[in-house]
Amino acid sequence: MSPRLAEVEAVTGKLPTQMFVGGTHVEALNGERLDTLDPATGGVIGSVPAGDAGDIDAAVADAKRALKGPWADMAPRERGRLLWRIGEAIRERADHFALVETLDQGKPLKEARVTILRTADYFCYYAGIVDKLQGETVPLGNNKTCFTLNEPIGVTGHIVPWNVPVSMVARGIAPALACGNTAVVKPAEDTPLSAILLAELMVEIGLPPGVCNLVTGYGETAGAALAAHKDVGHVTFTGSVETGKAVMIAAASHLASVTLELGGKSPHLILKDADLDKVVPDALAGVYRNAGQICSAGTRLLAEREICDELTERLVAGAQNMTLGHGLDSPDMGPLVSNRQLQTVTGFVERAKERGITILTGGNAPVIDGCEGGFFFEPTVAAHVPASDELAQEEVFGPVLAVMSVGSLEEAIEIANGTAYGLAAGIHTQDISKAMRFARQVEAGQVFINGYHGAGDTVPFGGFKQSGIGREKGLAALANYCETKAITVTG
Ligand code: NAD
Repeated sequence: MSPRLAEVEAVTGKLPTQMFVGGTHVEALNGERLDTLDPATGGVIGSVPAGDAGDIDAAVADAKRALKGPWADMAPRERGRLLWRIGEAIRERADHFALVETLDQGKPLKEARVTILRTADYFCYYAGIVDKLQGETVPLGNNKTCFTLNEPIGVTGHIVPWNVPVSMVARGIAPALACGNTAVVKPAEDTPLSAILLAELMVEIGLPPGVCNLVTGYGETAGAALAAHKDVGHVTFTGSVETGKAVMIAAASHLASVTLELGGKSPHLILKDADLDKVVPDALAGVYRNAGQICSAGTRLLAEREICDELTERLVAGAQNMTLGHGLDSPDMGPLVSNRQLQTVTGFVERAKERGITILTGGNAPVIDGCEGGFFFEPTVAAHVPASDELAQEEVFGPVLAVMSVGSLEEAIEIANGTAYGLAAGIHTQDISKAMRFARQVEAGQVFINGYHGAGDTVPFGGFKQSGIGREKGLAALANYCETKAITVTG
């Protein structure tokens, strides 16, 4: 049992223990459960049902029924008001949600709070679009009138990872509901709690039962069943490349469309005219936030040769200054989400050492006072990493920065584009021509000039190459959740 559980429950009340289908709490049909841990101590904080294909079937059937109920009759403006109220209710309970998210996922409380406010913002943003989902008219000549309607697809499936648990749910379901769909959510097995709270809250605020169902369980069972379910018209998946491919294959069995938000190995280029006082905190936050468990983290730092040593020294000093601790104590960095993730990250760094890569700082799993048993890994800087090295090619998904020096913008662009990924990219320079050349030529769904992670929740987000298919966030996400129907009247 985590020693910090009582402290959180004193504020939030008992943490959720059941999943949420048809507007009510339910157990898995198979009666099985899975434990969820406090990653900062390794202690159990509770358990939730380990649902599987039977539970997914029931949840999808409920979501299908809900398409015909009061949800379908709700006027667009009313649906928008409901989404707005959900957003406001999340904002009012932000502290409560943040405590649960920190205990379940590990991130520092202040970071958790930001992601909860973003969760609220997704609902409020899409609330405003509901009564503006207009179609168009198409000129076909004198005796014809043609117009289009944007209709909901039907039941949408949402399979979510553990790194930003509740915000990732909202990012998918807010636009899906705005377009009139219903949803079935499968949160990650490591971090189910805040998503259950969200499902409960939405019904409490007035969402008709069945419109958003949530099934907890393992990916290979519940997740796979959701992706393959013949009554699911669109699957929004966020997670690893390998699982994304499996989801796409499963969805193809019944020609469901997919949005795939996958991994990254994003380059952050620093030219020699950049203001290093601004670059250093930006690059540190770009890679170490959420203990490096951010898909768009700037994990490859490409620095122009003339400034590479000075910048590296300053990054090392910054990494060494970071505090590690329990997320509830608001350190600079919390633990990794699980022992499995700790083993993955440790494996990447150990293999890098064996290949002779210089680890300038970090590289170890420290034991933190009061958090013995936690899954911590030090902020790590690896120097002179060859562009072809595993550490420069593969997503670590932990607090590991690979630094490389480059001789020119052209070389930097070639290295930046030299991985299988294409999620995000950043550049710091005073030279707008060089910045724009980089932005145009880099293969990435988002580009940040002079401020890594500078975009917000209203900006289209998604990947080139193996970083995914389709876009979430912003107006672009609406295309995922609407069927266009063209009606032509003759005469
Ligand atoms: P994962 O692929 O292991 O799991 C993601 C989700 O898929 C979980 O809910 C899991 O239970 C489920 N799942 C597992 N196997 C499944 C299967 N066979 N069929 C259906 N669902 C299945 O990923 P993860 O380890 O939870 O998350 C880390 C990965 O997510 C990283 O690669 C990261 O870059 C990526 N990610 C991407 C974005 C983005 O927006 N592009 C955002 C966050 C995380």
